Amino acid sequence: MLFQDITILDENLDVREHMYVGTKAERIAYIGTEMPEEDFGEIYPGDGRLLMSGFYNAHAHSPMALMRGYGENLALQDWLNTRIFPFEDKLTGEAVYWGTMLCMAESLRFGIVSSSDMYYFCGDMARAVVECGAKANISRSLVTFDDTDIWDLDRFLEARDFLRDWNGAGGGRVVAEMSLHAEYTNQEKAARQVAEFTRESGARMHVHISETKSEHEECKARRNGRTPIQFFDSLGLLDQPVTAAHCVWVDDEDIAIMAEKGVTVSSCPASNMKLASGVCNAPKLLASGVNLAIGTDSVASNNSLNFLEELKLFALVQKVHHQDPTVITPKQALYAGTRAGALTQGREDCGLLRQGFRADLIVLDIAQPHMHPVHNLLNNVIYSADGRDVVLTMVDGKVLYRGGDLLTIDMEKTVAEVERATQNILRQL
Ligand SMILES: [Zn+2]
Repeated sequence: MLFQDITILDENLDVREHMYVGTKAERIAYIGTEMPEEDFGEIYPGDGRLLMSGFYNAHAHSPMALMRGYGENLALQDWLNTRIFPFEDKLTGEAVYWGTMLCMAESLRFGIVSSSDMYYFCGDMARAVVECGAKANISRSLVTFDDTDIWDLDRFLEARDFLRDWNGAGGGRVVAEMSLHAEYTNQEKAARQVAEFTRESGARMHVHISETKSEHEECKARRNGRTPIQFFDSLGLLDQPVTAAHCVWVDDEDIAIMAEKGVTVSSCPASNMKLASGVCNAPKLLASGVNLAIGTDSVASNNSLNFLEELKLFALVQKVHHQDPTVITPKQALYAGTRAGALTQGREDCGLLRQGFRADLIVLDIAQPHMHPVHNLLNNVIYSADGRDVVLTMVDGKVLYRGGDLLTIDMEKTVAEVERATQNILRQL
C-alpha cells in the first residue's frame, strides 16, 4: 500500500507533512517526500489523515472481556474475591477464545497492534490472535499455594508446553512468555524454580509488581524487608527481559534495580485510578532510565481498550499527582505507548515509523472539528484525539481494520458467542 501525500509522525515522533510511505509484504519499504517510482499497490489518499506507529499495549488480560462491567466500585481484594475469582473458576477454553477475539476486535478498532497478554487457556488465546492477524505476547500466569515442586503442577506444565508449542506462531506474531502472577500469589520455592526455568529457556517474563500499597508492605513484612522487586531480584527472576505491570509503590532502591536490570514498567493509569491503587511515579522512572510502557490492564478494570484515552490519562494523572503540568510531554506519552511497548515485547523492529521496520501502522482522521486548529499536532493527538479517530489499523502490512470494518473478525458471531459464554458461566454461579 502507498500512503500518498499524508502527514506522519516520523521515527523521532516529529510531525512531517506531505509524505509518501510505501509498505511491501510485512515491512515499511519507503518513506520520502516524493512519490516513489516503485509500485506499492493500492494508493491510500492522505488528505486530512495522520499516519503513525500502531500502539503496543504492555499489560492486558484479554479473556477478562467477559467480565467487563461485572464487578464495579469495589476494592481490589473484594473485587477479586467476590466477583473475578468465582467467575474465572467457571471459564472454559471456548469462552477464553471468544473473550480474546472480542478484545482483539476492540484493540484493532482503537489502533492497538500488539498486546502483552497474561492469563490462562493460552492456546485458545493464541488461536484467536493468529486467526485475526493481530500480535500478542502471551503468558500462562502462575499462582502457587504451597511448596509443591513446579514440575508436579499442571499449571506450570501448561506454561512450559505453551512456550514450546506456540512461541513464534503466526509468522512471529505470537511470542510465548513466562509469567508469575505476582509476589503475593506465589511461594518462594516456586518463584525460584520459575526464575531458573525462565533463564534456561531464554523466555521473557511478565509479572505484576507493587500494584497496591498493602501488597508492597505485606511483602516487606513477609520477606525480611524486601520489596517485590528486591525479592524477585534475589531469586534471579530479573535476569531475563521483564515486563513489570503497575509498579505504583516501588521505592528508590527498586527503581535503581529496575534500571540496572533493564526491567520495563508497564503503567496502567485507568486501572490504577479505578481500583484506587495509586499513581506510578513515571517522571522518576524516566529520569532513572527505566523503559516505561503503557498497559490497559483488563477491561474488567478499565473498562475499555481506548488507547488514546489511556495515553491522555497517563499524562494527566502524572500532572495532577505531581502538581506539575510540565511533567510527561506528549512525545513521552506517545513513545511509551508505541516504541517502549514494542521493546518490552522483544519486537526490536516494531513501534517506529522507520524504513525496514514492520508495517504496524495506524491512520487517524485529523480533519475533524476537535482536531482544529493545529498549533501543535502532537498536543492534539494526546489531549484532543480519541480512539474512535483511528480509521485504519495495519499489522505486518495487512489492513485489519478500516473505516468501521474489522476485516478478519466476524463481529456478529463474536458478540453472540461472548454473550452465550458469559450467560453459561453466570448460570453456574
Ligand atoms: Zn494485571
